[in-house]
Amino acid sequence: MSTAEPTLLIRHARAIATFDDDRREWRDASILIRGSLIEAVGPAADLPATADTVIDARGHLVVPGLVNTHHHMYQSLTRALPGVQDAELFGWLRGLYPVWAGLTPEMVHVSTQVAMAELLLSGCTTSSDHLYIYPSGPQGRVTLDDSIRAAQAIGMRFVATRGSMSVGASAGGLPPDSVVEREDAILADSQRLIETWHDPSHGAMVRIALAPCSPFSVSQDLMRETAALARSYGARFGAHGVRLHTHLAENDHDIAYSRERFGCTPAQYAQGLGWLGDDVWHAHCVKLDDEGLSLFAASRTGVAHCPCSNMRLASGIAPVRRMMDAGVPVGLGVDGSASNDAAHMVHEARQAMLLARVGRALQPPQVHEGRRFFGCDLGPAEMTARDALALATRGGAQVLGRDDDIGRIAPGWCADLALFRLDTLAMAGGAVHDPVAALLLCASPQADHVFVHGRQVVQDGQLTTVDLGPLVERHNRLALALAADCRAS
Ligand code: ZN
Repeated sequence: MSTAEPTLLIRHARAIATFDDDRREWRDASILIRGSLIEAVGPAADLPATADTVIDARGHLVVPGLVNTHHHMYQSLTRALPGVQDAELFGWLRGLYPVWAGLTPEMVHVSTQVAMAELLLSGCTTSSDHLYIYPSGPQGRVTLDDSIRAAQAIGMRFVATRGSMSVGASAGGLPPDSVVEREDAILADSQRLIETWHDPSHGAMVRIALAPCSPFSVSQDLMRETAALARSYGARFGAHGVRLHTHLAENDHDIAYSRERFGCTPAQYAQGLGWLGDDVWHAHCVKLDDEGLSLFAASRTGVAHCPCSNMRLASGIAPVRRMMDAGVPVGLGVDGSASNDAAHMVHEARQAMLLARVGRALQPPQVHEGRRFFGCDLGPAEMTARDALALATRGGAQVLGRDDDIGRIAPGWCADLALFRLDTLAMAGGAVHDPVAALLLCASPQADHVFVHGRQVVQDGQLTTVDLGPLVERHNRLALALAADCRAS
């Protein structure tokens, strides 16, 4: 490490929650950053008093930048669309596929920036995105490069997943034939993207993962060949290779499709295709059965838990506490903007906390030592605020294969940090008692300052990298054009 790199001191924070291995929390504390890495964290009195740049963090809580493990950013263009506001997953998808068929490269770029702006302002510094629809029209063909360039411009750490759909309705799949791709083209483009963009180094700002969309939109051959392609880079990239991602066991219809078409549960389907392992993470897993849970735990297969989307589409309540207790890596995902309609990571963590509690309350009574306990007796302890924040930080980092460089505040980890004001109306009477728990128990705040890789991308609640007003205005024009285009065709 060069000592010539600039230093940044975040000084006198009211509280710092590190989410390190000892879950240490500090009061009146500082963080010293050199270049893009954290050099020291601890009581303000133990750290230097000055640096090249000093941020006075009095009245702030500092947490590791939050990590979002599942998203479809292009869906920001179709939030709150009236025809699908009240549909379950399959009906919702059938209603939206024809709209998304009109996506252009510009729409992907702009909607990705809108989704990332929203995430950054909520304290999220790393996000995955799952782009699985690649239409081609007069304005060109959508590519994953459109998303990656958007991330680079706004300054967000990015795990871009090359999604795909190859089984259309005529072959028994859910999507219309017009939006699926040929499998050889999917694999060739996946290889091109890995060769062009994947960075295995510590602190990488861009990594690629491969992500056939779901059991009901791709073939088993594509699942197998995609896994083989990703793992063929193992020798070259080592532990920071190309990971695998898809949707699994999202709701009852998803389970029924798996049983009818493949004669097995989603977890058995994944196992048979080589889609379990510590290089794989699945979104949702709401309906994972006991056997599936054991398979995931034994293979260290990760889960992206998406509570808002699961509630919005009435998919169900994922058994998150059981996953955590079994040792399954779990992170949080806001999921696509059209099945959540929000992309606020603190809010998502709050919902994870609340949904786990009500999930426990719905379980049958249990008898312990002769006493009968109802779910509502046990529910509130199911998920604490700190449990949910751990999922949103180090949990997400683990799911994305990044537990050695993001998701905690510790020397040697990337300087990805979110600072929240504690002197606000929403925090009044809460932060004075417990500033860390108040972040989730009180109304979800916007971040005041956010750093990604040591660079300040949010300052005093404003993005420093893009002009938000024109971006939102352009996004809204494109959203209306996309919906109108669908109505006209
Ligand atoms: Zn999704």
